[in-house]
Amino acid sequence: MTTSHWLRAHQFKTPDMVTDVVIVGGGYIGLSVAYWISEFRPDLKIIILERSTIGAGASGRNAGFLTKGSATFYKTLSKHWGKDHALNLYSFAQESLHLVHQHILKSSPEIKFEKTSSLTLFKNEQLKKTWDDNEFDPGDFGFKWRETKDMPNGLKGTFFGALENDEEYKINPIQLLSSLRTKLEARKIQIVENLSAFIITQDGISTELNTIKCKQIVLALNGYFPHFHPAFKDLIKPNRAQMLAVELEEDIDSNALHYDSPERVYWRKSQDKILLIGGKRLLDESGEVGDFEKLSPLIQVGLEDYLRDQLKLKFKVIHRWSGTMGFTSDELPILNRVEAPTETFVIGGFSGHGMGFGFRSSLDMAELVTGQKTKSFFENFKTVQIKL
Ligand SMILES: Cc1cc2nc3c(=O)[nH]c(=O)nc-3n(C[C@H](O)[C@H](O)[C@H](O)COP(=O)(O)OP(=O)(O)OC[C@H]3O[C@@H](n4cnc5c(N)ncnc54)[C@H](O)[C@@H]3O)c2cc1C
Repeated sequence: MTTSHWLRAHQFKTPDMVTDVVIVGGGYIGLSVAYWISEFRPDLKIIILERSTIGAGASGRNAGFLTKGSATFYKTLSKHWGKDHALNLYSFAQESLHLVHQHILKSSPEIKFEKTSSLTLFKNEQLKKTWDDNEFDPGDFGFKWRETKDMPNGLKGTFFGALENDEEYKINPIQLLSSLRTKLEARKIQIVENLSAFIITQDGISTELNTIKCKQIVLALNGYFPHFHPAFKDLIKPNRAQMLAVELEEDIDSNALHYDSPERVYWRKSQDKILLIGGKRLLDESGEVGDFEKLSPLIQVGLEDYLRDQLKLKFKVIHRWSGTMGFTSDELPILNRVEAPTETFVIGGFSGHGMGFGFRSSLDMAELVTGQKTKSFFENFKTVQIKL
């Protein structure tokens, strides 16, 4: 957003600022990076700049799966990167969840979270056989097979079995962000909302209203990277995702995080009788490109159909919404130092896994910023050259 000469002169008086580090983007990633930098270097002054309000992006719009990911995700990773790399990623995700628990959930009584497991669901034996692959053993990644008889009662008639992974969490993402915010404010980190960053200069960063002088910049812009600079256009692409919340006539007896990969949906209960579901993006793939929040009627109907036809549920829709994710071609995030007039780092492109990988990735970014390491974990997978 821009501000006119007239508004700037008459309405806003935002003085120029001076700080050590500016973090652009007030989502889960931006806040987490600030958390870890201030953990390592409490002496540094940090400003977080958010063009809207904290959590306005995907971080306040997601399904609240604090998860390592589905068995299908690790199978795909193994195929693409090899087993060792996929196992490293699994451990990284595991550590991420552990750190969130230790640093935020455990010490924040205001967050209602639930420890649970994830289930990668298989509708019938044939689908499971087709999915199985001699070169991928889900057991190596902590997945255990749950037969029909051991499935939660609510899923017994519908699914043949599932690959289960434990030590996952269900969270309310807005509560998670509020708690992080409180911790950051206690550390005197300045959070500036309703201010867009525009251009990186030799002194720091220009916003629509002022200049912030700083030594280092971290960009945590998720699906909005290409808006910030064209250099990101082919690297991080904005895609929308749709969510639906329904009230069930009769409760379903399963408290896990569910992935139905062939149907391309993920769903969970948020409380008794309230179920959240997302996915089905292939029903309107081209219509979902972009970072403007809007509903896709095709996908919303697809999600309702799934609940009615596949899960045999009766329900009333209580809310519909959308959010924007930044996707990379290999679905792994970019965590890099980039070439820019002021020392700048990029963290983004989590492609639907930001809540799971985010906290540990932000620690990695903080280690880069504070000079504790020169290469991020994800640079073992790829290094991207970006000039801003
Ligand atoms: C519908 C949906 C469901 C999802 N479900 C899950 C899930 O269950 N589990 C999971 O792990 N992941 C999930 N994800 C993905 C996850 O939400 C994201 O990976 C994660 O929130 C990314 O965090 P972020 O801070 O990078 O992005 P964001 O939260 O999008 O933050 C980026 C921020 O940058 C701000 N910004 C943009 N441009 C500027 C600028 N020029 N100046 C200042 N600020 C700017 C934006 O306003 C925004 O607040 C889901 C995503 C969606 C959309």
